[in-house]
Amino acid sequence: MDEVGSRGIGAQLIHSRVQVTEPSKESLQKVKQVSAKTGDLKSLSEADASIIAVSLDLASAGGDVTLVTDDFAVRNVAEVLGVGLSETNVRGEWKQITWITYCKGCRKEYSDSKATVCDVCGTKLSRKPKSS
Ligand SMILES: [Zn+2]
Repeated sequence: MDEVGSRGIGAQLIHSRVQVTEPSKESLQKVKQVSAKTGDLKSLSEADASIIAVSLDLASAGGDVTLVTDDFAVRNVAEVLGVGLSETNVRGEWKQITWITYCKGCRKEYSDSKATVCDVCGTKLSRKPKSS
């Protein structure tokens, strides 16, 4: 058997264990303790906590575990526990919003965000996120 073949089987075993294995009580307990500390406990569903706990079990058994999630609470807790996280599009949530200052009265848009009153009709200016 060549090396590539045996590695492929290993990956499949890890994969199937993720799907069928219940997390150990110890890991689940650890996940809940950490999430209580970080303030993420109420954001985590039972399923979320289980996934992190299973990852923790696999990692401590020597498995190469990568958790794929966009959930901020899950990522936060997994990071504290040292579970490997994949790069996801989580940065999208932190994308800086570009605001447009505009007049509700006459719809004029202002590039100067310091403007507060419309110089055309005198209406107090509003802001809205720029739609991309
Ligand atoms: Zn106006």
